[in-house]
Formats: sequence, structure tokens, C-alpha cells
Amino acid sequence: MSRAALQDAAPAAPSQPPLDGGSSSGGRESSAAATPSVSSADLDAVREDLGDCQRCKLAQGRKTIVFGQGNPRAPLMFVGEAPGAEEDEQGLAFVGRAGQLLTDIIEKGLRIPRKDVFIVNVLKCRPPENRNPEPDEIMACQPFLEKQIDAIRPRVLVGLGKFAAQWLFKSMEPISRLRGRVGDYKGIKVVPTYHPAFLLRNPAAKRDVWEDMKVVRDLLKE
Ligand code: URA
Repeated sequence: MSRAALQDAAPAAPSQPPLDGGSSSGGRESSAAATPSVSSADLDAVREDLGDCQRCKLAQGRKTIVFGQGNPRAPLMFVGEAPGAEEDEQGLAFVGRAGQLLTDIIEKGLRIPRKDVFIVNVLKCRPPENRNPEPDEIMACQPFLEKQIDAIRPRVLVGLGKFAAQWLFKSMEPISRLRGRVGDYKGIKVVPTYHPAFLLRNPAAKRDVWEDMKVVRDLLKE
């Protein structure tokens, strides 16, 4: 299925926030992930280039490099902060509690099967005790995130939380100031929103995320 067909097939977003237990369309089938693509070869090259990365101090404490996963031709790409304990264990992005909420945002909110988007992080390795990413770590990982975005060329990028939003906007402004704006990363629309881990602690902010996801839906329809 082409990107356009994938978008056309998605039903209109409901008008109420669905992130607190609305019906899931997670079982909906799509053939997009099975489509052979040039960008999957490009992504493989990025992964190969990353190798057994030792470019920053996080290499010492990590169990696994979390490269990111999803449809290499995804029209929609999510950028998180860094792997947590569960992600470090499994080698997959957003598979812990915050990941479950992200799945709900994608599947119940946007009504897109999670396998049809691509999910990455600013950092590919877990910071000790889940501390914030440090500037040297972000710099060391930056070329790989850039190349991942170049390979996938999504139509819309969602920055989850402060670090991803600041990276995509090339700004040091707080997420509270970046949210509500649509940015531009190399011609790709950027929608910043709150991180799912923040939503677990502040469920009232789900309403804002829902507003942001409506913007994402509209941008994907353009
Ligand atoms: N938080 C993130 O930012 N990324 C993950 O992969 C998991 C939790």
C-alpha cells in the first residue's frame, strides 16, 4: 500500500480524547510494512555504520543498542528520548509502560497500527538510572538520528518530550513553549508533544497530546 493509500484508508479521528480506554484499532491489517523499499536498505546501512558503537560513555553501561523499529517507509515517525530498562533489555524502542501509552496514542488516538510508523530515540543507549541525556551523548548519536530520518523521509515527525523536541527544532526552549507549534526539519513537518512518561505522571496532559495528534492527523491528510 502506498503512503497516500495508507493515509486515505485511515478513518477520521474521533472528536473526543480516546487515550483513556477508547476502542482500539490495533488489529487492523495493513500491507505497508511488507512493501519492499529502498529506504530499508539505507536504514540497514545506518545500522551497520553504528556497529558496536563506542562513541560515547553510554556504551559502557548499556546491554543493547536500541536502533528503533517500524515501517522503513513510514509517513509518520516518532522520536523519543532514550531507551529505558525494558528497552535496553529487549533492544526495542518504547516497549515499557511509556511504550504501552505510546501504542495507545498511535493506535487508539491516531488509528494507525503501530507497525506502520517508525519509532526511534535521540539516544540509542540507555543512560544510567534513566538520567537525562547529556550534550556530548546527544552530539555523538546525532549523525545516526539524522541518517535515520534521511533514510525514512517521513512526512511528519513527532518529538516526544523536551529532548526530542529541542533536537528537532534546534532550540533550547522548554517543551511547554515548543508545543503548539509546527516546526520544520529539512522540509519535514515537526509536531512536538509531551513524552508518554510525563503523561503517566500527569494524566491531565493527555488532553494536550490529543490536540497535538489532531494536528498530526491533519498534516498527514495534506
Ligand atoms: N522513553 C523513551 O524516550 N524512549 C524509549 O524507548 C522508552 C522510554
